Amino acid sequence: MKKIQMVDLIGQYEQIKDQVNSSLTQIMETAQFVNGPAVKQFQVDLEQYLDVKHVIPCANGTDALQIAMMGLGLEQGDEVITADFTFAATVEVIALLKLTPVLIDVDKDTFTINIAALKKAITPKTKAIVPVHLYGQCANMEEVLEVAKAHNLFVIEDTAQAIGATYTFKDGTKQKAGTMGHVGCTSFFPSKNLGCYGDGGAIFTNDDALAHTLRGIVNHGMYRRYYHDVVGVNSRLDSMQAAVLQAKLPLLDNYNAARQQAAAYYDKAFASCNKISTPHRETSYSDHVFHQYTIRIIGADRDALAAHLQAQNIPHGIYYPVPLHLQEAYKDSRYNEADFVQTNSLIHEVLSLPMHTELDEEQLAFITNTILEFLN
Ligand SMILES: *Cc1c(COP(=O)(O)O)cnc(C)c1O
Repeated sequence: MKKIQMVDLIGQYEQIKDQVNSSLTQIMETAQFVNGPAVKQFQVDLEQYLDVKHVIPCANGTDALQIAMMGLGLEQGDEVITADFTFAATVEVIALLKLTPVLIDVDKDTFTINIAALKKAITPKTKAIVPVHLYGQCANMEEVLEVAKAHNLFVIEDTAQAIGATYTFKDGTKQKAGTMGHVGCTSFFPSKNLGCYGDGGAIFTNDDALAHTLRGIVNHGMYRRYYHDVVGVNSRLDSMQAAVLQAKLPLLDNYNAARQQAAAYYDKAFASCNKISTPHRETSYSDHVFHQYTIRIIGADRDALAAHLQAQNIPHGIYYPVPLHLQEAYKDSRYNEADFVQTNSLIHEVLSLPMHTELDEEQLAFITNTILEFLN
């Protein structure tokens, strides 16, 4: 059996090696390292794939979130609501910009923002909502957008884990993750569903004026060379990363299908085990692109199982072991533990299993058998 990896990027590279190597060589031979043609081409390709008017490439997913908030003109003291159960980058940029993060509980089944908690958290100071499409499944955008509209709030989608996922509205309209709110933010970190060979990110919007603002912010607030109209940052996707992404984008749907196939294997294997809750799919509104395949262990010792997997050389992850509202950096006396029932229990239950495009049946059988033998 091939060694099991949490993420297998080498196997994926083998399949696109010729194209990637020749694109990278060309960039080196022409020395168009920054803002070369590959960046523009990838931008256009991604706009087409997502069916969105504007893609603004940038240096990473964290910057994408920060720049989106800067572009929307959010100011010190504005409250921004986001999920308590996400990667820290989401709340980090809110705090960094001196906005006020308001963390709220998630649904225990979908791990995404809870709509009742969202409604309860809104105050006159609330300016934006950041739904996180955690593990590869969209948050309940239909309701998020309704709440936002009713209260005149911006919606900034964090789609770092869900690129390529499709959301279906009640009227049958379909839209890609990251293109439903005012602005969407993604990451091309190597382990994401569409990953480059270093850091990368992008911002999506259908708003022409906002797109213009964002394109200036990523480049030192310059709209004309050496004229700085707004405070900006330096956040660029470099040409080499763009070339890698250009090679991988046409394969993204295949990659996501391979992940779904591995997920289906896991689902079936675990179906009869009452100590495992497999990922719930909100099939009425979103498909799931399985950035992570995350199970919940119920009525058994998750940490003992994790240690057993470790001993069997089966990699796994606990995303996330501490809710954000209990992190030293983001504690706030306004929070009430009774409002975080789900996140406080999820941290003890969740376990993410190996998930990537190169998992084979022998590996999946070994992983699932090891888990089931331990729990039974
Ligand atoms: C990865 C990730 C980010 C940050 O992306 P980087 O490119 O690593 O900066 C933000 N939010 C979520 C939910 C992520 O998973």
